[in-house]
Amino acid sequence: MSRWWWGVLALAVSVPAAGQELKAGLAKAVITPDGPVWLSGYSGRTKPAEGKVHDLFAKVAAFEDAAGVRVVLVTLDLGSVGEALTEAVAAKCQRRFQLPREGLILNVSHTHCAPEVAAERRVFHALPDAEEEKLVKYLAGLEDQLVDLVGSALKDLRPAKVSYGVGSTDFASNRRLPTEKGYVNSQNPDGVTDRSVPVLRIERDGKVQGIVFGYACHNTTLAFQQYCGDYAGFAQAELEAKYPDAIALFVMGCGGDQNPYPRHGPRGLEFARQHGKSLADAVEKALAGPLAPVRGPLKVAYSVAPLDLEPLPPVERLKAEAEGPAGLAQRKARYLLDELERKKTIDLKQRCPLHAVRFGDDLLIIGVSGETVVDYSLRAKKDFADRAKAVWVAGYCDDVFAYLPSRRVLKEGGYEGREGILHQLTPTPFAPSVEEKVFAALGRLVEAVAPR
Ligand SMILES: [Zn+2]
Repeated sequence: MSRWWWGVLALAVSVPAAGQELKAGLAKAVITPDGPVWLSGYSGRTKPAEGKVHDLFAKVAAFEDAAGVRVVLVTLDLGSVGEALTEAVAAKCQRRFQLPREGLILNVSHTHCAPEVAAERRVFHALPDAEEEKLVKYLAGLEDQLVDLVGSALKDLRPAKVSYGVGSTDFASNRRLPTEKGYVNSQNPDGVTDRSVPVLRIERDGKVQGIVFGYACHNTTLAFQQYCGDYAGFAQAELEAKYPDAIALFVMGCGGDQNPYPRHGPRGLEFARQHGKSLADAVEKALAGPLAPVRGPLKVAYSVAPLDLEPLPPVERLKAEAEGPAGLAQRKARYLLDELERKKTIDLKQRCPLHAVRFGDDLLIIGVSGETVVDYSLRAKKDFADRAKAVWVAGYCDDVFAYLPSRRVLKEGGYEGREGILHQLTPTPFAPSVEEKVFAALGRLVEAVAPR
């Protein structure tokens, strides 16, 4: 057969069948504040940012199938995202672009070197009023910027060839070390991890124009006062340098109990670059193939699971803690007593946004909110393995309200199980039903997106 015939044959094989075609649209924008603002994550900070290593970005990958069903993924080099911002962006996108709520997912990298946008800062961080004002202004600007960016990506929708592969890299490690004093926040080489690096390649006009990749690990190599995307920022920059026509988007996985090692200290920046390089290398290796095709039709589903929390401690105990030594326990007790006075009752439920996105038979994406621990991704990949050829689980979606422990982590206790709640607005630790409630809700979403 002539080379011409081989060309025609290859083309025929790569063209998706009717109803399976996808369009993709991409956009990115710098979201680094104009000046120094308070930084996220570490509550012990005493001053705003002092310069930047590189810019922080918001990036959007939008997909549309032949029937016009759309899903829009927004990734952010931010430490957190809350319900107020996500719902405001979603409502505006619905009005302006007729994008249904279930078609929008926000995901944050959880870098600790970005503006502090988490609502708990007002209660638990010692930032002056003038700093709070700067953050409120930043958030208002960010809201409109994100809506415009979603609009740009939707306008950019064009026929695309999408494919999927998985790599891996091993700088993430479990950070829950069992000791005689319980679980402490320290590297546990024997603990569970998910070191897979899921990758979506988006080709348009014969060029790689989008690279969506994930990893389940805290972006906390750095603990300093400069704007930086940490390892995820370096990995995205490296990929965009190697693929100059592409936008690279980092999707945070279920890395709630995973840290990058080595980390912190005077060599922190060097370690962050090194981890970024390892991750970019893993992505490149996956991109080199073989990759599996990702086709339509698209199906999207979204719900908010109400998760039960433990009962409030007796008011007498809260009053004693509120008068007790200065610290997180005192602040939490005062916060809860204020809430009780204001509202007369405290709702002991945590709203937990959840997503399921299906690309034909090829890929099922599960999105979970909160600082999702790794058990969720391991279990979701197992539970839903027979539902699509590949399952990708993202954590840190829509609302990073608190650590979202699995039943095991909750039972073991420690920071991600119980102690982290001390500096969150979530009133009390989760009830033992947490994992089953999340999976029951996810099961319903996966059913809702099942092929008919
Ligand atoms: Zn965290």
